[in-house]
Amino acid sequence: MTIAPPPTRDAAATRAAASVDRTIRLIATGAKSGATCTPELASGPWEFDRGPAGYGPGSSMGDVIPTGSPRQGSLPAEYREASDAELHDRIRAAKATLGERVVVLGHFYQRDEVIEHADFVGDSFQLANAALTRPDAEAIVFCGVHFMAETADLLSTPEQAVILPNLAAGCSMADMADESSVEECWEQLAEVFGDLGTPDADGRVPVIPVTYMNSSAALKGFVGRNGGIVCTSSNARTVLEWAFERGQRVLFFPDQHLGRNTAKAMGVPLEQMPMWNPRKALGGSSADELRDARVILWHGFCSVHRRFTVDQIAQARAEHPGVQVIVHPECPMPVVDAADAAGSTDFIVKAIQAAPAGSTFAIGTEVNLVQRLAAEHPQHTIFCLDPVVCPCSTMYRIHPGYLAWVLEELVAGRVVNRITVPETVADPARLALERMLAAKPPAAAGA
Ligand code: SF4
Repeated sequence: MTIAPPPTRDAAATRAAASVDRTIRLIATGAKSGATCTPELASGPWEFDRGPAGYGPGSSMGDVIPTGSPRQGSLPAEYREASDAELHDRIRAAKATLGERVVVLGHFYQRDEVIEHADFVGDSFQLANAALTRPDAEAIVFCGVHFMAETADLLSTPEQAVILPNLAAGCSMADMADESSVEECWEQLAEVFGDLGTPDADGRVPVIPVTYMNSSAALKGFVGRNGGIVCTSSNARTVLEWAFERGQRVLFFPDQHLGRNTAKAMGVPLEQMPMWNPRKALGGSSADELRDARVILWHGFCSVHRRFTVDQIAQARAEHPGVQVIVHPECPMPVVDAADAAGSTDFIVKAIQAAPAGSTFAIGTEVNLVQRLAAEHPQHTIFCLDPVVCPCSTMYRIHPGYLAWVLEELVAGRVVNRITVPETVADPARLALERMLAAKPPAAAGA
């Protein structure tokens, strides 16, 4: 596991100068050329917490948010109106007062003004594990999105409070597979395959459910109850191998692209990967197509990674001969096929760290991570494949104002925005996570 250490003051200054937040504000005021997907990004996230429910400006702004999604109450004016410098000082002071009682986790896709204050920086599962190194912390402040805070709650002790600074920081991809739609899918699959718990002569059940880490705790609980498993973008192939040992086929949700890209790399033909559209009977496939399937892909996607295109890769290659194009496996299959490599955020970070000085990279993942990597590695040329600055809408809902608020509430002895997974969900969800941790690639099995 790679966890970036907290930034030094010099590194923080470098990153602040290159921050996406700052870039957006400069573009919005005309002080810098370039384009953002919407000028609303220059506003404080609290503007959107007060309006109609929605993901907010950024990559997911065109996605429909489910009814009943968590809303954030009004942020007190003192935080909305504070300057960047004041918020910075208040966060530092609150953290100093709380000391070891609090640990702040910052996801790779967070804005630099938040990362500045993180004790650990990494991907969602790395961060949940990092929190395990601080069992004495009473509060875990997760600067990421809702499913990440749930995972941290699953792995932390009952005494620890996991706090999401802005409750509206969901994830549009995770929301594309809700528990009732997946239960309905499962019932329809049972009509096609009979008892889903009965193995064939080879000891394999008809369908193994696999959920990506980017899903609600309820879905992790669903797969735990039904013989399934969780995967990350780092171990998706290992997890699919685990599933194929135990099942004739896999139901993979919520991200169709990670499922398709991983299964294709394992040699599964595209014709054996039908899509499950929850709004259609049998997901839009025939019973015969489902019987022939190896991987049934849920109709979900990440709106950040869906922005990357083959044309952007062609342009990067034309403008930067020798460029290495690395994209995240949440990107559509043609983009992954056109890239030089595809891998998780951890893979991207390590590839850049290992490259000889003077390398050029075009990266297909969230712009906050890309700009941070560019600032941290001045020996390379690093740029985002998408020339339009369009961060993840929901990661963007975490602003230093909310971080200052939750920390100062802790100083005052109050826990706000706590994320708690009910025990009835937590037990099977932990089982699904434990299966993932125990799954080993074939070469490593038994080692
Ligand atoms: S980057 Fe995509 S998967 Fe990650 S939180 Fe944002 S919408 Fe969800």
